[in-house]
Amino acid sequence: MSSYVEEIIEQVIKQNPAEPEFHQAVREVLESIKVVVDANEEKFRRDGLLERLVNPERQIKFRVPWVDDKGNVQVNTGYRVQFNSAIGPYKGGLRLHPSVNLGIIKFLGFEQIFKNSLTGLPIGGGKGGSDFDPKGKSDREVMAFCQAFMTELCKYIGADTDVPAGDIGTGAREIGYMFGQYKKIRGLFEGVLTGKGLSYGGSLARTEATGYGLLYLVEELFKSHGNDIAGKTAVVSGAGNVAIYAIQKAQQLGANVVTCSDSTGWVYDPDGIDVAALKQIKEVDRARLTEYKKYRPNSEYHEGRGVWQIKCDIALPCATQNELDIEDAKQLVANGVTAVCEGANMPTTEAATKYFQDNGVWFVPGKAANAGGVATSALEMSQNSERLSWTFDEVDAKLKNIMVNLFHNIDDAAKKYGFEGNYVVGANIAGFEKVLDAMNAQGIV
Ligand code: NDP
Repeated sequence: MSSYVEEIIEQVIKQNPAEPEFHQAVREVLESIKVVVDANEEKFRRDGLLERLVNPERQIKFRVPWVDDKGNVQVNTGYRVQFNSAIGPYKGGLRLHPSVNLGIIKFLGFEQIFKNSLTGLPIGGGKGGSDFDPKGKSDREVMAFCQAFMTELCKYIGADTDVPAGDIGTGAREIGYMFGQYKKIRGLFEGVLTGKGLSYGGSLARTEATGYGLLYLVEELFKSHGNDIAGKTAVVSGAGNVAIYAIQKAQQLGANVVTCSDSTGWVYDPDGIDVAALKQIKEVDRARLTEYKKYRPNSEYHEGRGVWQIKCDIALPCATQNELDIEDAKQLVANGVTAVCEGANMPTTEAATKYFQDNGVWFVPGKAANAGGVATSALEMSQNSERLSWTFDEVDAKLKNIMVNLFHNIDDAAKKYGFEGNYVVGANIAGFEKVLDAMNAQGIV
């Protein structure tokens, strides 16, 4: 007879065809927690525990009609998947990218359950977004889309029910337009979105949080191995919110970061990436990385992908899912990489992850390594609830504390179940245990 875990993985594939990213995320989590499930198989089966875990509590799909600058109507598809509210209101970002479909949102929402649990804060898992592409759109078009998107989404979210945030394509500008529309329709000035501007309820250090949090975790990982990141060479992919602040904090901690990338090419700067230039190009001018050479004539720009070819001690994928495959993993290992920590969500393929683990690389999955973003979003919710704002240093200190504790929790969970050094298993089990406890306590709902 096949195990409960195997049956559920098969069922998920059968019931959700054409959602490969969702299958990948479910497989990774369920295989990791198999040791816990096997020990309680009879009870879990009776309670339909895994069926309830892999089926979202609710998924909403809606039409988003808006008018472009030529006066033509454009229609996009909007999604919000409210996956699991066992430990708190749904929380997770809104992705705006042409690749968005239900399967991508479900994979992200599923991962979010365990990530949010790992932060130690009371937030459930959810995710949303649209296949709208903000690239090349005017400000007015972006506003028109955001307003149309929120006109429908506002029926399903609220400060105590579901609190979306930013993600790929959704930055401060988009959050601002969405918040304005929510307030206009619902008549509520409340903490319904995080990643807000500082003048209307945003938190200091939220912008930096995912990248900074990633580096606080990397620092603790190295410490736990009696090592230090100062003086190490790091390669980073991406040039967005996560990548920029990961590079900045890595440099502050003494590492030399020599790459970054965007969806068309990548930069190699042996003297260390110039963060001020990168911010100007990506945050202010919203331009391509081809511009980087103007600021740093000694750097190289290459079309396509290639950051993983560069020799390094630390690799930090910070762009998007499945951007680091088995060939990249072989190259990194051949070049002597020590640690791979995911700033993006599921950027490493299953085969590449296994290759790292089999070759003794310290591999920390995104649900642990990038949890600083959502943790600080939860701190933004706390500040909104008490109608106070904390200083940058206060938020940053709490973030660091959360990431250090998180690392030790996943490290301890891996050791407890006999998987020392396997941070994938550690993260999934540690995240799952709290959700499991809450689901059991709340009965069959
Ligand atoms: P941004 O939109 O700010 O940046 C994304 C970066 O990745 C950009 O440089 C973009 O290139 C590049 N990119 C996006 N899609 C692709 C693709 N298909 N192929 C190659 N490059 C691509 O997003 P974030 O930095 O916010 O998010 C990055 C990752 O981190 C995502 O996986 C996200 O889910 C995850 N994450 C983000 C958090 C946050 O707080 N922002 C929190 C936790 C996880 P270009 O500049 O050309 O668009």
